[in-house]
Amino acid sequence: MRLRVPSFAKINWMLEVLGARPDGYHEVRTVLQTIDLTDVLDVERTEGEIEVLCAHPDVPGGEANLVFRAAHLLRRAKGVKAGARIRIEKRIPVAAGLGGGSSNAAVALLTLARLWEVALEVGEQLELGCALGSDVPFFLLGGTALGIGRGDEVYPLPEVRADLLVLANPGFPISTAWAYRQLTKRGIVGNISVCSRVWYRAVREGEPPPLSEIVVGNAFEGIVRERHPELARGLDRMRELGAVVVGLSGSGPTIFGVFESEDPAIRAEVAFATLGWWRARTQTVSRRQYWERLSAALSDEASRP
Ligand code: ATP
Repeated sequence: MRLRVPSFAKINWMLEVLGARPDGYHEVRTVLQTIDLTDVLDVERTEGEIEVLCAHPDVPGGEANLVFRAAHLLRRAKGVKAGARIRIEKRIPVAAGLGGGSSNAAVALLTLARLWEVALEVGEQLELGCALGSDVPFFLLGGTALGIGRGDEVYPLPEVRADLLVLANPGFPISTAWAYRQLTKRGIVGNISVCSRVWYRAVREGEPPPLSEIVVGNAFEGIVRERHPELARGLDRMRELGAVVVGLSGSGPTIFGVFESEDPAIRAEVAFATLGWWRARTQTVSRRQYWERLSAALSDEASRP
């Protein structure tokens, strides 16, 4: 039995770091969004061990791969004897603030539960997801969501719809651990009041905030702008090219711009291509679309030989 399942990327509409926690993690407040940029997990049930294969040079094999850890965790939790061969087709840039590894882990849990024929209640999904990483639970929800705690406690928000989203990144990775260390060195000053104001109204009215107000800051932007002036120029350039709002996803280096019409979005894509940056024109994926596409792939008889 074999399934091919999409694994979506995310961006952060906002990300505040509120302080260090006794457990060594940071307390964050973030608004996450699934977007239409995917890796593909090709998962085959075997009677052997767990194998994870990925041709991307920056994605580790074996135990360091989050997919491998997800598979082992599920196998142990459910006492499964079967194995799996998992091929990851990487299209989401790695260590880019787009959550690729976490998304892969969440999708691996769902796909393997299916192929190994084990029931995985929502509560169990969340528990395994939290054990794998802070962003994994979000990918078990999708759409627009608030993440608090380590970012692993997720709640649905009114869905933001942006049909013209341009992503760009200069091609070097930024380690999230490095970014947190820089924040700690400088003393973290979280300011959530803007976010609260924007989203309080949205939640009360059941409508997302207007796109022009959707980006309300990213705690990492200052340090990233300082350390990587080309990213600061990229953010400014995206705005000059006509984006209504621009933002940094996670701890970067991926930046995004929301556009209201197609021509400037195309021009922005071309401008970043000319700079030699990785870029993509994409759109948001709502919770409903997320689950429709995942469910279709998970129950796709056609992909079962
Ligand atoms: P984070 O904020 O968790 O660092 P990110 O979105 O910036 O996430 P990822 O693409 O998830 O970055 O990669 C983070 C690190 O995880 C990389 O250094 C990579 O080597 C490692 N990694 C482990 N498994 C995977 C995977 N399946 N896909 C991508 N990266 C993986």
